[in-house]
Amino acid sequence: MKYEAVIGLEVHIQLNTRTKMFSRAPYKYGAPPNTLTDPIVMGLPGTLPIMNKDAVMKTLKTGLMFDCQIPEICKWDRKNYFYPDLPKGYQISQNNQPLCLGGFIEIELPGPSRNIMGKHRKIKLTRIHLEEDAGKLIHNGDSLVDYNRAGASLIEIVTEPDLFSADEAFAFLTSLRIHMLYAGISDCDMEKGQMRCDANISLRPIGSSTLGTKVELKNLNSISGVRNGIEYEIKRQAKHLDEGNKIIQETRKWNADEGFSSSMRTKEMAHDYRYFPDPDLMPVKITSNILDPIKQDLPERPFDKQIRFFSQYDLPFTITSVLYPDFKLCNFF
Ligand code: ADP
Ligand code: MG
Repeated sequence: MKYEAVIGLEVHIQLNTRTKMFSRAPYKYGAPPNTLTDPIVMGLPGTLPIMNKDAVMKTLKTGLMFDCQIPEICKWDRKNYFYPDLPKGYQISQNNQPLCLGGFIEIELPGPSRNIMGKHRKIKLTRIHLEEDAGKLIHNGDSLVDYNRAGASLIEIVTEPDLFSADEAFAFLTSLRIHMLYAGISDCDMEKGQMRCDANISLRPIGSSTLGTKVELKNLNSISGVRNGIEYEIKRQAKHLDEGNKIIQETRKWNADEGFSSSMRTKEMAHDYRYFPDPDLMPVKITSNILDPIKQDLPERPFDKQIRFFSQYDLPFTITSVLYPDFKLCNFF
């Protein structure tokens, strides 16, 4: 292969807050459809959002765990688009003043080095912001919509284009999930939609330092689906380039059952979200009074725990590799 793959991930994670991001409606996976809504979730006229403090605290905890900078002020923006899963016609999100900037997530390098101590790499993050989830559409001949998920608290973690293989993306999501379990913020179960991932993939000639044109891959429904989808996409782009073609910037859909990607939309069809600050919500000022207690409450880092188990209890390193991903098993041990 004469190309190097470059990958950036956009990962959505539902926070395990008791109620939704801007209303008192509860959220729980698996409840009967359309039972967890209220007038705020439905965007009925005259309703006003109220910010969920626990969601902000849990986002800050995530950011501190990953060494992000926490700007003093964050604000809420409306991201406008029309789709049946979005009853208000806009999503409350954070555009240019998110809660967390920068930071990194440490991963175990894939391959045989997995069982060698210290073979890790830090993947750079761009940002982490907080927003509300959309409802869920179900197409089974008829098209149905379930608004239970609408308005649930959701963070988006965006990485820099700092991953270089499908296996690294797999290791990244695995590490991210383990950290979130340690922090008690989300189970990150992809089958329940608690963690969802879009992958941006481009190729460049080996040795080049400029980025190639990226393709965004959606509908990756499991951590191994992410790996398979990226692997396929790298091969598809390499073949396309070898045949003398150019990659066009587009969004593609991963079809997991058949194992191929297909085009969804090109750049020309990109959305214009007409972002503007939400007039119903105040910006939030993050003071040390808010941050200090969260810093006290950060979990031991998973890889630190692994090293500690290795040195303190004299366990074989391979055993610590099995233990550390399972927070409950570690506590039991
Ligand atoms: P968009 O505006 O299309 O969402 P962004 O610049 O915000 O694009 O980046 C979204 C994601 O795509 C990020 O994770 C980023 O790291 C990744 N990305 C951007 N450019 C490339 C590229 N050329 N190759 C691979 N990933 C990229
Ligand atoms: Mg994108």
